[in-house]
Amino acid sequence: MARFEIPDGWVAQAYRYALDPTPAQERSLASHIGAARFARNYMLRLVKAVLDQRDAERSYDLAESELTPGMGWSLPALRRVWNARKGAAAPWWRENSKEAYNTGLDSLARSLEGWSKSRNGGRVGRPVGFPRFHAKRRRGSVRFTTGAIRVAPDRHHVTLPRLGSIRTHESTRKLAHRLEAGTARTLSATVTSDSAGRWFVAFQVLVRRAAARPAHVGVRHEVVGVDIGVRDLLVVAAPDGTAVARVPAPRSLAGAQARLRALQHKADRQQGPYDRESQQKRQPSNRWQRTQARIGRTHARAANVRRDALHKATTKLAQQHRTITVETLNVSGMRARGGRRKRGLNRALADAALARVRRMLAYKTIWYGSRLVEADRWYPSSKTCSACGSRKPRLPLAERSYQCDNCGIGLDRDLNAAINLARLGETRPLSELSSSGSGPVAGRGAVQETEPATVGDAAGCEASTPLQQLLDQPGTASSQGGAA
Ligand SMILES: [Zn+2]
Repeated sequence: MARFEIPDGWVAQAYRYALDPTPAQERSLASHIGAARFARNYMLRLVKAVLDQRDAERSYDLAESELTPGMGWSLPALRRVWNARKGAAAPWWRENSKEAYNTGLDSLARSLEGWSKSRNGGRVGRPVGFPRFHAKRRRGSVRFTTGAIRVAPDRHHVTLPRLGSIRTHESTRKLAHRLEAGTARTLSATVTSDSAGRWFVAFQVLVRRAAARPAHVGVRHEVVGVDIGVRDLLVVAAPDGTAVARVPAPRSLAGAQARLRALQHKADRQQGPYDRESQQKRQPSNRWQRTQARIGRTHARAANVRRDALHKATTKLAQQHRTITVETLNVSGMRARGGRRKRGLNRALADAALARVRRMLAYKTIWYGSRLVEADRWYPSSKTCSACGSRKPRLPLAERSYQCDNCGIGLDRDLNAAINLARLGETRPLSELSSSGSGPVAGRGAVQETEPATVGDAAGCEASTPLQQLLDQPGTASSQGGAA
């Protein structure tokens, strides 16, 4: 796939708006998402059938040349076959924009490529399984790249191909200003729905902006280290041991978590889709479905609060300091050890926050002319004493303070880690820039982001394209779904 080059002086950025569709538009939006899923599942079934057929023929010792011809699974190949068959397979195809089908086929092409590369050893990280069929309840997205993609002059409507003019909840003023002034160019628009049933559009745009810190902000520190805490969102420190900042988790989050637990208990007592006694699926009750909807809304709200707090904190960081050091998330290790559930909700939230902070800092440091240094993922920032440099073999997560056995110092665990990270950042020469956000990061190949949403939740499998990485935007719904 051709790599998208961003011209000098421009950065890729996304603007995301909550949509307020009419009932008819909502049906059309849902139809587009369904169309993407249909095309993906249909072609996956076909690819799978051909593969199975060839396997069966091989087992009868047929020569390779006599096998049923293989099927290409690049995007153009899938599109060719789909276009030839859509009349019979989906006689209703004209109801939706062709971009809907393209989104589904694109996602399939990427999944198949990931699987095939992983099987042939061309990919780092954990093995990627054969693509799965997407279920109806799954959240989806559709990405529009051509046609009428516009922001209306009234600042409260956007125009999308086939869907027409849809009202937005917030004003699109900032983006409209830039488009009118010619300092922004639209690349695409991605429509997504979230678990709470709301609709969003994210415009991926190129924006011309000077890499400079705003004139009214002075530099506070040359180098800082940032630890993503379990209790606090962020702990920031300078190499000399100064505690620079501590960003507590917003108070409303604790409330949301308590509410989620209560709702979860409630759902457990209601009639869900699985009957434990007969071990069978069943029709869930209306009450259970209502509780699920409330759980979805609570998650969505908590995610918004968290995202907002992280945006404010990372903007400050990128503006006020010249070098910012963070740890690198060890995603494959995380999964190998049993994933989120096993490691507890708090740890899961911290992991999700770290991934997000890193992404936000990657582009904000470019915007403001500072730089991001990512510590090697084996760098023991928590286990090392920031006073004498001695190292503990292990430090359980429950231990909130660092007590050094060597020099006897005792300080907050997260602060100790932040100081170590700051010192590491100090030792990295300025030429070692890693702030591009698209730079190589150990283990990145292993991330099967679904953020899902993230790029727009369109991020699903799309997150693996270089352009999508660059576009990894401010304010997309988190793919960390449950980690709200
Ligand atoms: Zn010590």
